[in-house]
Amino acid sequence: MSDFVPVNEPVVPASAKKYVNDALDTGWISSAGAYIGKFEEAFANTIGVKHAILTTSGTTALHLALEALEVGPDDEVILPDFTMIASVFAVMYTGAKPVFCDVEPDTYNMDPNKLEEKITPKTKAIMPVHIYGHSCDMDPILEIAAKHGISVVEDAAEIHGGTYKGKMCGSLGNISAFSFYGNKIISTGEGGMVCTDDDELAERVRSLKDLSHSKQKRFVHEKLGYNYRVTNLQAALGLGQLEHLEEFLKTKEHMANFYTERLQGIKGIRTPITKDYAKNVYWMYAILIEDEFGMSRDEFAAKLKEQGVDTRTFFVPCHEQPAVSELYPTEETFPVTEYVAERGLYLPSGLAITDEQMERVCDVIESVAV
Ligand SMILES: *Cc1c(COP(=O)(O)O)cnc(C)c1O
Repeated sequence: MSDFVPVNEPVVPASAKKYVNDALDTGWISSAGAYIGKFEEAFANTIGVKHAILTTSGTTALHLALEALEVGPDDEVILPDFTMIASVFAVMYTGAKPVFCDVEPDTYNMDPNKLEEKITPKTKAIMPVHIYGHSCDMDPILEIAAKHGISVVEDAAEIHGGTYKGKMCGSLGNISAFSFYGNKIISTGEGGMVCTDDDELAERVRSLKDLSHSKQKRFVHEKLGYNYRVTNLQAALGLGQLEHLEEFLKTKEHMANFYTERLQGIKGIRTPITKDYAKNVYWMYAILIEDEFGMSRDEFAAKLKEQGVDTRTFFVPCHEQPAVSELYPTEETFPVTEYVAERGLYLPSGLAITDEQMERVCDVIESVAV
């Protein structure tokens, strides 16, 4: 299976290895080491925010962001029906009700035209998710939020370095969450970051992630807190990766151009688009297998797999997830989400992908298409 093409393979640059070894050599392996602060500062500078707070995952970053906004059991949070389950679970951890909004047919992001009708007196926050590395259309979302006095939490787990109208995603709402899971553009193996310009929110996030220790008296805790601390080793890995972000984004752009050039003429395959307002970082190269292709998405994926090409299907609509519908059953339909969830998949898109591998993926797709 030497010519098997995996859906994701990360890259660990030499500088990252050097920093991790340095952390090991100095004995600073816990969450008190110097790489934590260095990584947080470098990340805040990259995104253009005042505060970046490292946490154990994208999921816990979202949870901390929502808790810092004091989202709780009587509240509602609006988020897209098409997203990774962690976005929804983070809302559910707070006890708030997730309220789903359908997405745009071309970017798969929250559709601002369908957002305002979801607002009720209980709406406390809106959570746009920048799907597959393409920015949401943030201006109308921010306008609606401001009009109703609602906070915006960006789920920026898939968009390290991507922009909206020239501004970094993750710096546009009140607070944002990134993920550093193994398949994300910057990775610490497992990890996440909360970003915000708001001093008070940042302070709350720092406290909540470290068991809400009282500043006045050690071992006195006035609020429920969490241990979402990260080791210095992971921070060292993250810093070493972050220094290569520009290069990583070039790799992603090259990947997308390569695939699009080869695949855009094939009938029934819809290749990704980039809106004028966005710099797309192509976290994953996502395509739709539409009816004209003459084969279902699942048949297509199975044929690719037979020939050693690994793919992943799109997310399942959130409102259909048993863990969600059991608590929040709904009769509502989300036609766009349902359409894309059934037809979408992404191709091998990791940072370690080579031209030869992409060549093979495209050859296999062409052979399957005729
Ligand atoms: C990966 C991801 C998360 C969760 O991040 P973890 O680090 O895996 O917890 C949340 N939201 C989106 C959109 C993601 O892609």
